[in-house]
Amino acid sequence: MVNVGILGATGMVGQRFIQLLADHPEFEITALTASQRSAGKRYEDAATWHLDTGIPESVKDITVVDTDPAEVKDVEIVFSALPTDTAAVVEPKFAAAGMKVASNASAMRMEPDVPLVIPEVNPDHLELIETQQKNRGWDGFIVTNPNCSTIALTLTLKPLYDQFNIKRVYVSTMQAVSGAGYNGVPSMAIVDNLVPFIGGEEEKMESETLHLLGEYDGESVVPANFGLSASCNRVAVLDGHTEAVFIEMEDDFEVDEIKESLASFRGMPQKLNLHSAPEAPVVIREEDNRPQPRMDRNTGNGMAVSVGRIRKDEVFSKSLKYVLVGHNTIRGAAGASILNAELINEIM
Ligand code: NAP
Repeated sequence: MVNVGILGATGMVGQRFIQLLADHPEFEITALTASQRSAGKRYEDAATWHLDTGIPESVKDITVVDTDPAEVKDVEIVFSALPTDTAAVVEPKFAAAGMKVASNASAMRMEPDVPLVIPEVNPDHLELIETQQKNRGWDGFIVTNPNCSTIALTLTLKPLYDQFNIKRVYVSTMQAVSGAGYNGVPSMAIVDNLVPFIGGEEEKMESETLHLLGEYDGESVVPANFGLSASCNRVAVLDGHTEAVFIEMEDDFEVDEIKESLASFRGMPQKLNLHSAPEAPVVIREEDNRPQPRMDRNTGNGMAVSVGRIRKDEVFSKSLKYVLVGHNTIRGAAGASILNAELINEIM
């Protein structure tokens, strides 16, 4: 077993890490960190647990420590669920101390020598680790996963990008409140309402997606070069982001070709049979009224993206529309980091 730690273990994403890692066949949780408010307490006393499965017995009595590498002993991999500003300062310290950091935070994602990876999409970008260690003199390293709405979108774009000639993509999101953390969106702001702004989200979707679909040329990543415009909204859903996607192609296509491309998509995690890999990363729904977050967010144990309403646009030529749902704190956060770590553990 590989000893692992969770940084920011008491938060929304930290709790998902604990839930997903509690019975993991390769990883064993041996360290939990949080802010100084929680350090020194038993995990059960430090965390206000929000998930509908109970706190795993194996972590209840672990003493939460300060988020400092000196406090985290004999750990090979740390999963980071820290707020961005804290992650920017702390994650490099863990990498410098020799640990492998699998991070959810956005702080390091667009650094030129830090891999931003979805295992089914761009596993070859992990080669940047060598450059990173050389540049920074670290024995450990940092690998990041994209933001939650980007992951779901990119898993559906990857097979289409490989097979068709994409000209432009427009995406409009309806994002769950859990994406903002437990205290992120006050109930008075979101109940009976929709908030048409999520700070920094549109910029992240636009830059991260093109980076993920970009080519690693042996030194750096050259981003994909089609147009992508995002419009992000917060809705009164607990978990599961919904996205309405509109794609303009250079050439005409058949809807059945699109469905076949999405349904047959498999990546390295499926080939390697990694523990957290869904059987198929994209699942097609044929019903008129699916996917829906409450019904479809747990597809593939929360690791698959459901796609429905796949149709040609009747007004604009050579254009495609579909709707997707992905679980934002599983495939969009903790599950994404864990799959990155499983891949690294398998191939490095
Ligand atoms: P959260 O619920 O607010 O949890 C934050 C965690 O960080 C808590 O464990 C907190 O500990 C700890 N923390 C706060 N300040 C700290 C400090 N100064 N030093 C050390 N630890 C500190 O946030 P979240 O929703 O889990 O998000 C965590 C990260 O994942 C963020 O970077 C977020 O952008 C990213 N992310 C979230 C999602 C999602 O769907 N929620 C998706 C993708 C990425 P205490 O309990 O002691 O305060």
